[in-house]
Amino acid sequence: MEFEPVIGLEVHAQLKTKTKIFCGCSTSFGAPPNTHTCPVCLGMPGVLPVLNKKVVEYTLRMALATDCDISPNSRFARKNYFYPDLPKGYQISQYEQPIAQNGYIDIEIEGEKKRIGITRIHMEEDAGKLSHDPDRPLSMVDFNRTGVPLIEIVGEPDIGSPEEAGEYLRQLRAIVRYLGICDGNMEEGSFRCDANVSIKPRGSETLGTRTELKNLNSFKHVEKALTFEINRQKDILADGGRVVQETRLWDPDKNRTTSMRSKEEAPDYRYFPDPDLLPLVIDDEWIEAVKKNRPELPAKKRERFVDEYKLPANDAGILTSSRELADYFEECLKTFPDPKQVSNWIMGSLLGLLNAQGKTIAESPILAQDLAQLLKLIADGVISGKIAKTVFDEMAQSKRPPKEIVAEKGLVQVTDKKAIEAVVLEVLARSAQEVEAYKGGKTKLLGYFVGQVMQATKGKANPKIVNQLLKAKLET
Ligand code: ADP
Ligand code: MG
Ligand code: ZN
Repeated sequence: MEFEPVIGLEVHAQLKTKTKIFCGCSTSFGAPPNTHTCPVCLGMPGVLPVLNKKVVEYTLRMALATDCDISPNSRFARKNYFYPDLPKGYQISQYEQPIAQNGYIDIEIEGEKKRIGITRIHMEEDAGKLSHDPDRPLSMVDFNRTGVPLIEIVGEPDIGSPEEAGEYLRQLRAIVRYLGICDGNMEEGSFRCDANVSIKPRGSETLGTRTELKNLNSFKHVEKALTFEINRQKDILADGGRVVQETRLWDPDKNRTTSMRSKEEAPDYRYFPDPDLLPLVIDDEWIEAVKKNRPELPAKKRERFVDEYKLPANDAGILTSSRELADYFEECLKTFPDPKQVSNWIMGSLLGLLNAQGKTIAESPILAQDLAQLLKLIADGVISGKIAKTVFDEMAQSKRPPKEIVAEKGLVQVTDKKAIEAVVLEVLARSAQEVEAYKGGKTKLLGYFVGQVMQATKGKANPKIVNQLLKAKLET
């Protein structure tokens, strides 16, 4: 029998608000342990949480971006469990009546669109952070993260492969970044994912028993863990066994998942409405206000880049992968309105440079206006495409505008026919053998002559003129 995987993801995104969800403590990362704390986030008796309005606003942005229905009335619930990183003994979350439900995002795999449903989005608070001494039987807890706002995005089991799961996550991350609500860093834990996976006979409507995978802190881990787990489940069924519903941990060193706890061992959270927090009422006015400030989202922008700039889908996908990169591209177009040319230079040279230096587009040593100026110099025939690469490298080093570099280094392209002709004649004079061969029919040698002329002019001769002159001389 042929099996197909079914995957549903639960994603936690840390919101970039200045203060925590229920108190005024800072959310900034990297402070000395337990300095961003107060009686509220430390769970002292007798204190009352006060909801941070910005958290609701950020969640509404996400809910609208994913076409969710927004509940006019939602509420907070206590999720009870004991763990040393949870001082109150419960986490404030949402259970019944979450803020948003029934949304979706569209992903694209090899040109094919697929819609992935979003079951719900809710708000909750993060727990603290434990660290364990490797040498002594000692664990330490830092409550700075306690009460940092999160949204949980629960996805429908609509994902059909590890690649689709990766694409869905990349789309979600692009959206939260475009919205400016989360920095989307998986490695640092501000964007986290648990993956549920089962397999079923191809075409069957009934879902199989699922396992939930944890400890997936990069896109690569998500895809690898899912691939491993799908194969593990297939092997079990092939041997006539049954998949057990359980939570499994991904071990990135051994490239496998191991059992963490079974369904029977799963905690019972005894959820109940939090009596300290009022029901949350969201009126149309609030929703309209958030709608008004909506940025163009990655999928829309990608489509527009294809329609408006006639870019191939691949270019549009890469250029819209972040809002800053898309802005950079459009900034270049203001000076140099040739979309494909700009796209080629960004995707080839610029992204290569940033990648090599481990920098983001915001940290680019080359400003959009300067890159556009460089392309203008090529188009105007001031420098050759080949010299432009040298100028580009120099711009990356010195951060100076291209015109200055070209002038200073004497890189201006030679378009003077007389000057080029002199070099052409010189090259032909010392290549009697090749000239003979060319005239005998080996016209491929034209490239060789062009190369010689370019070398003699240190790449500064206008290639078009070089070609013309060479052909004229060789064919008479
Ligand atoms: P829990 O709260 O126990 O994690 P949920 O019903 O909320 O359970 O489901 C959590 C996630 O599991 C969702 O993302 C959902 O899409 C996914 N899921 C549910 N059933 C299956 C299944 N049979 N195979 C794969 N994923 C599933
Ligand atoms: Mg779960
Ligand atoms: Zn606090």
